[in-house]
Amino acid sequence: MRAWNFGAGPSMIPVEVMQKAQAEFCDFDGLGLGIVEMSHRSAEYMKVAAEAESLLREIMGVPDNYSILFEQGGGRGQFAAIPLNILPEDGFADYFVTGHWSRSAYKECAERFGDARLHECVEKNSAGYYEIDYSKMKVTPGATYAYICLNETVNGIEIFDLPDTGEVPLIADMSSDILTRPVDVSRFGAIIFGAQKNVAPAGLTVSIVRKDLIGHARKYCPSVFDWAVLDKHDSMYNTPNTFSWYMAGLAFKWIKSIGGTTALEERNIAKSKLLYDYLDSSNFYRCQVAPRDRSRVNVVFNLQDESLNAEFLAKSREQHLIGLKGHKVLGGMRASIYNAMPLEGVEVLVKFLKEFADSHRA
Ligand SMILES: *Cc1c(COP(=O)(O)O)cnc(C)c1O
Repeated sequence: MRAWNFGAGPSMIPVEVMQKAQAEFCDFDGLGLGIVEMSHRSAEYMKVAAEAESLLREIMGVPDNYSILFEQGGGRGQFAAIPLNILPEDGFADYFVTGHWSRSAYKECAERFGDARLHECVEKNSAGYYEIDYSKMKVTPGATYAYICLNETVNGIEIFDLPDTGEVPLIADMSSDILTRPVDVSRFGAIIFGAQKNVAPAGLTVSIVRKDLIGHARKYCPSVFDWAVLDKHDSMYNTPNTFSWYMAGLAFKWIKSIGGTTALEERNIAKSKLLYDYLDSSNFYRCQVAPRDRSRVNVVFNLQDESLNAEFLAKSREQHLIGLKGHKVLGGMRASIYNAMPLEGVEVLVKFLKEFADSHRA
């Protein structure tokens, strides 16, 4: 049987997508060879790659004045690539920090590339919940860009209200909430995401960049990270991750077939509501994020009695519920319920949570 995979990434992929890849793994399109054996420059592969790009453009509504680049190096690679591509040596950037990943991006820039200004945007409110303080998301006049992470995978905090940065381009990490809801791409200077949270196997990173932000890389920016070089070579300056790019194309097709990001948003609202409503109704578990700012895809929670954590994880694994352990920097539990997780998986999880709680009541 298939387990219910709540891991944060690499994470669940729709079984239809994997079965399609399996069916054509050894013989793609009657060619007598598999995708993973094929030259990235062959006409057949170029078609696969171009199709994936145009599907992403379609399902996200990416305007023509944005390039879509398929890269390697992960989200962390982009933490470096962003300042290397757009921050002049004498410029500075505002970083709106809402959790682990935006803080990591801030540190990468501040410690290696230049003047990064830290804006702490999450506080514990009087009710004891972590809450975004949107009033802190103000750009400093003269900033080259403002950086945000729309969904903090580790902390379970999501930004639903984009800050108004005026003329200053907003650069967003959407590694964990990409395609989970519609977004207006024209609000951003660039959107970056690693594929392994919501789209495809690990090893692929996508940057959607407004064209006027391309072509300003520092002289010492490695060419494989230079958006102008990637753009000029259709992301095939060096060998891309051909398999993950192909898998991303299958995932985009799947998303389109089930109604796109609007349909997915509805599903993700329903799934997360089911889980949060149960957690809030229980005195056995608690969620420490303010309701308004709760992530729809990474539900972070704790057992009131943390001494039961190991037993909780062991019992959940027995029930084929995988990957519920929280990130090491935070502890506790986390259920990642990305696009590929059906409502049924969340129902099974809630049933388990109830049974585990009941078994520990006198
Ligand atoms: C996982 C994650 C990253 C890091 O991605 P890597 O591909 O491991 O470098 C960055 N940002 C967010 C929001 C993430 O969830």
